[in-house]
Amino acid sequence: MAKSNAIHSRSGKASSESKVRKRVIRAACKMSASGLSPGRTGNISCRFDDGMLITPSGLAYEDLKVSDIVYVAGDGDVPGKQKKPSSEWRFHLSVYHARPDRHAMVHTHSLHATVLACAGKPIPAFHYMVAVAGGSDIPLVPYATFGSEKLAEDVAAALAKRDACLLASHGAIAIGETLEHALELAFDVEVLAEQYFKVLALGPPNFLLRSEMAEVLEKFSSYGQRAQDD
Ligand code: 13P
Ligand code: ZN
Repeated sequence: MAKSNAIHSRSGKASSESKVRKRVIRAACKMSASGLSPGRTGNISCRFDDGMLITPSGLAYEDLKVSDIVYVAGDGDVPGKQKKPSSEWRFHLSVYHARPDRHAMVHTHSLHATVLACAGKPIPAFHYMVAVAGGSDIPLVPYATFGSEKLAEDVAAALAKRDACLLASHGAIAIGETLEHALELAFDVEVLAEQYFKVLALGPPNFLLRSEMAEVLEKFSSYGQRAQDD
């Protein structure tokens, strides 16, 4: 697998921090423009130094300036005079602690993922592509108030074993080695959610067997150009 270039250091050049801030804004604008997370909902972060760079709370993505992106240290401290970080900074940080192999997170309120999450439905193995999130289902994290410590704990537990999850009565989360990977997975989750929603309307779906999903997961480990990246 290609080595990620998404780990950045605050002690390094200021220009590298500025580049990551710009990449966070670009990903946030892409998420917003594609309709993946309506209005001011959702948030995006990228691991940086011992903490992360994250979108500010409640600002329209299209208006974001480089200086609006907030640095949150690994202990949750927000040093200096900065904008308020996303209200979900706790679950972003808890996942970076739980998953040293992932460096970016996209949280959305994408339509169909949110519909399933509000109906209390995780996404089971109704289609082999569910394996794109790293397992045989996309789990549903129980409801907890947005921004809460409880939500952060439950999200970290769910994403210890998966790259995506749904949040009951809330939305969805995708993580990746890079911002681009996390955003792509957020799109994949929304497509799977829409498909599952439509399949449910036709009657009980056919679920893949555990052994069939295990085979898909094995194939995914060398899918596409991945093996050549090593
Ligand atoms: P923020 O604007 O604080 O990131 O909140 C949006 C959101 O989706 C909360 O779950
Ligand atoms: Zn949210």
